[in-house]
Amino acid sequence: MIVVMSPSATKAQVTAVRRTVEAHGLQAFVSVGQERTVVGVVGTDVEQVANIGSLDGVEQVIRVTQPYKLASAEHHPERTRVVVGGVPIGQGEELVAIAGPCSVESRQMLLDTARWVRHEGARMLRGGAFKPRTSPYAFQGLGRPALELLAEARAETGLPVVSEVTDAADVELMGSSVDVLQVGSRNMHNFVLLRAVGQSARPVLLKRGFGATIEEWLMAAEYVLSSGNSDVILCERGIRTFETATRNTLDLSAVPLLRRHTHLPIAVDPSHGTGQRDLVAPMALAAAAAGADALLIEVHPDPPNALSDGPQSLSFPEFGALMDELRRLQFVRNGAAAAGDGEAVGREAVAARDGAAAGRGGSASRAPAPPVRELRGRIDQVDRRIAALLQERAALALEVQEARGLDRHGHDVARERELLEQAAQASGGPLEPEELTAIFGAILRASRSAQRRRAEAHVLDRREP
Ligand code: PEP
Ligand code: MN
Repeated sequence: MIVVMSPSATKAQVTAVRRTVEAHGLQAFVSVGQERTVVGVVGTDVEQVANIGSLDGVEQVIRVTQPYKLASAEHHPERTRVVVGGVPIGQGEELVAIAGPCSVESRQMLLDTARWVRHEGARMLRGGAFKPRTSPYAFQGLGRPALELLAEARAETGLPVVSEVTDAADVELMGSSVDVLQVGSRNMHNFVLLRAVGQSARPVLLKRGFGATIEEWLMAAEYVLSSGNSDVILCERGIRTFETATRNTLDLSAVPLLRRHTHLPIAVDPSHGTGQRDLVAPMALAAAAAGADALLIEVHPDPPNALSDGPQSLSFPEFGALMDELRRLQFVRNGAAAAGDGEAVGREAVAARDGAAAGRGGSASRAPAPPVRELRGRIDQVDRRIAALLQERAALALEVQEARGLDRHGHDVARERELLEQAAQASGGPLEPEELTAIFGAILRASRSAQRRRAEAHVLDRREP
């Protein structure tokens, strides 16, 4: 800590500062400059003199170390890894998708969702039992019965469960039925609750308060850590700003910033961070790119009819598409657990996946069962035939161009539209009309590029020497 004296400070005032510092067992280094004097304060707990700025003659107090200690990267340069039911989060582990409904609404919807998110590669299940709602008239969660349903979903799928605790009195009860205690945004400043979860043996997912600075958030983490619980995962979930177009403003710069200031694992919740279903996937990908260790995503079997947070909940196919994208970009390497490789289900599959993830290989690197190998071999043959057919088609398109005259621009737009409509009508297979249209759209674009290259060469050939 550096205490900057004002230019008019007297010698007696500088002495008073030095004595105050020393009285707290700290060292004071007085440095007299031409214009002003500064006092450097050194010691293990300089916060003891946090109020020194109120002494006469002091102009400014500059902190050179963070007020949080246990959470800070300075005191703990190694990144922390929190292991939840065998799933490691943080310290360079692969991104963990935590998914499930905002609130547990019924046994069926929870089990359906748990099975689905596991199938798509989520490695933890979320689900609210006690919901902190802005309105006392809104659905408050099923409470205790939801905890039993979450335990059933965990037993069946093997996915560890995260659920929010809203009351210090519930910490013990929740701790015996869920794997991670979530402290919600509205409770980030609830110091009684923070101390209570700090005394639990369960890891804590600490959401950022929607009006909290990063330092206040890390101080909240410090409450949990200093109460004896070292397993804290921070979760950015958006802050309130002047912007009203989104539910919150998702502060993704917090991710790299936190990586600089703390060793704790970092999760991002793009569902509450945006409040809008179509923004969730892009922001989830952005969070992964920014360095998040985990994503917390709300998924519901029927979002329009959800009892809470329907507008921001992904449908099953939307969640599947997001996981595909995370795998394509290699943020997630685990194959979907039940992707048809004849793998074990439930805890066994999770354990197998954990082993694979620990080796950074993911289940994709394990040898598939013989029927899968045979089918994949046939797919490879089909792909080779498709590639040859595409080349044949493109060659014909160039012949058409030649016959039409290379000077003439353009393709037959009406014919292209017809072709797309025709493609969309092809039935008898698993592809939907929109999927076929997308494929043919790509074929037509590639064909036009080949024609354009040919035309360009023709134009350049005729340039004056
Ligand atoms: C939640 O995740 O269910 C939730 C209520 O989030 P937040 O505390 O971030 O609003
Ligand atoms: Mn919610």
